[in-house]
Amino acid sequence: MTLPAHWTHHPQKMLAFKAGDRVEDIDTNSTPGFDGVKSDAPVQQRERNERFAELQEMLHANGRRGDHRSVLLVLQGMDTAGKGGIVEHVVGAGNPMGIRYTSFGVPTPEERRHHYLWRIRKALPTGGQVGVFDRSHYEDVLVVRVHNLVPPDVWGPRYDEINAFEKELTEAGTSIVKVAMFISLEEQKQRLSDRLENPDKHWKYDPGDLDDRALWPQYRQAYQDMLDKTSTDHAPWYVVPADKKWYSRLAVTELLIETLKSLKLSWPPADFDVEAEKKRLSSA
Ligand code: AMP
Ligand code: MG
Repeated sequence: MTLPAHWTHHPQKMLAFKAGDRVEDIDTNSTPGFDGVKSDAPVQQRERNERFAELQEMLHANGRRGDHRSVLLVLQGMDTAGKGGIVEHVVGAGNPMGIRYTSFGVPTPEERRHHYLWRIRKALPTGGQVGVFDRSHYEDVLVVRVHNLVPPDVWGPRYDEINAFEKELTEAGTSIVKVAMFISLEEQKQRLSDRLENPDKHWKYDPGDLDDRALWPQYRQAYQDMLDKTSTDHAPWYVVPADKKWYSRLAVTELLIETLKSLKLSWPPADFDVEAEKKRLSSA
């Protein structure tokens, strides 16, 4: 397998969470497997966005023909980690016809009356779609745990339940790409400050972000347990250092491309006689 430009190692291998990996050891400012620099990123991102778009459209085209397979990108990370940037600058390169984006915030009263996976199941991609979860069911073992929204005997069994749920999804034809984005405490301060300084970013700022920031060690532990307990063969976690936005975007682009390539897609053949149609058109 050849590597895309500037990659010294396959991003999937490089970034996959491995048993024993420690969240506290993640170098959030690093660029694992990539030896290019920031000035290489714009051209490379454009080129790889095109490749992603081509494969994503191929998946969509096959879905229109009844292919039941889909891809689900799950994005997790603390506030300002860059989840929105992945949606805009990576997924945004695709054809919206085949993209299903959902963000998961504080559950609504209706959602609260249901099992935590209820709203998740409703948002799953169908055949041919690339689903994107901006936050996900993992909030139910992250924010819910850190803020004691339910007791440990309720969130504790959720790891196994999530593994079983994701197994069911993959067996039904959904390739799951789980991305955990990690920034440093200092980088988050800078990004929150940018949001406060710029009126066009105020919409992204939530005073509650500072409450979560104060709970950084607790979140770190919750992320560690999430990675330890829910990185499975069928749905592995990828750990993406995210202090450099240009790197995290390139990395997630490659993870998506690899996943789409593994589906061995091709353009669906015409289900009509092309030559006959050309003749008909010429005299139409
Ligand atoms: P944002 O992604 O910045 O728009 O914020 C969404 C907020 O919703 C975050 O503070 C999340 O922690 C919160 N959230 C998401 N899912 C849940 C959940 N299941 N329970 C409680 N809060 C949640
Ligand atoms: Mg927020």
